[in-house]
Order: sequence, then C-alpha cells, then structure tokens
Amino acid sequence: MIKPLVKDVESLSVPCERASAADAGLAQDLLDTLASLDEAACLAANQIGEAKQVVVYLDSNDRPRVMFNPVLKRGLRPSRVEETCLSHEAPTKSTRFDQILVTFDELVDGALVPRKKELRGWTAQIVQHMIDHCKGKLV
Ligand SMILES: [Zn+2]
Repeated sequence: MIKPLVKDVESLSVPCERASAADAGLAQDLLDTLASLDEAACLAANQIGEAKQVVVYLDSNDRPRVMFNPVLKRGLRPSRVEETCLSHEAPTKSTRFDQILVTFDELVDGALVPRKKELRGWTAQIVQHMIDHCKGKLV
C-alpha cells in the first residue's frame, strides 16, 4: 500500500527497532511507496511512519531490493558527497564510503535469512543513507 511520507524530524530521529519476518507487509508498503515516487532511489520504514529497520532501494539495474536490519560492516575510500533526502528539502554534505560491506536479513519463504553484500558507488551511497535513517540519523 502506498503510504504518505513522514517529514517530521522528531519522529525520523528515533532509532529504529530490529525488524522481523512479521514486517513483510511493511516491506511491501515500502516497495509500493518507492514505486509511486518520481526520482526516488531508496526509502526507509521510518519515512513511512514505522520505526523498524527495513529499507528498500533500487540497485544498479533499477531493480527494487529489500533489506531487513542492514548493518555497515566495512567501508573503503570515504569522500564528501552532496546528498538529498525525501524527508527534507535542502541538499547536505555527508561522508560516504565508495565501497562497503553490508550485512542484512532477507525474507525467504516467510523467514529471515542472514546475507551479506559488497556494494560500490551510487548503490553503496544510498544504502549508507538508508542505514543512517535506521539509526535515526538524518543527513
Ligand atoms: Zn533520506
């Protein structure tokens, strides 16, 4: 279901709780909402009002991906980049790694399965932005 975007800084600043397989419906809401937005590449659950660690993003082939409980494990080659956020207006500068190792859970047949993934470039950047949202951190 498409949900309205949350722009309230106070609720976006609350660290999100770990997600479980019971949050499958939330993941679907995130996918539906992301698909409804022009020019959006990623969305975190608290941006649609649920303080859970679930995020969606478009991979380098523009295919939507879901991560439950993403954690940044390693980053290489940090640089300062300018970023925009759906949840506030002005672009801001952040430090992002060009190459990252992320652990997360994937929902497979109704259960969460631990995964890890190496990401680079733009995809690495938006996933770091999403992990920050899960921590209640805004750019
Ligand atoms: Zn954002």
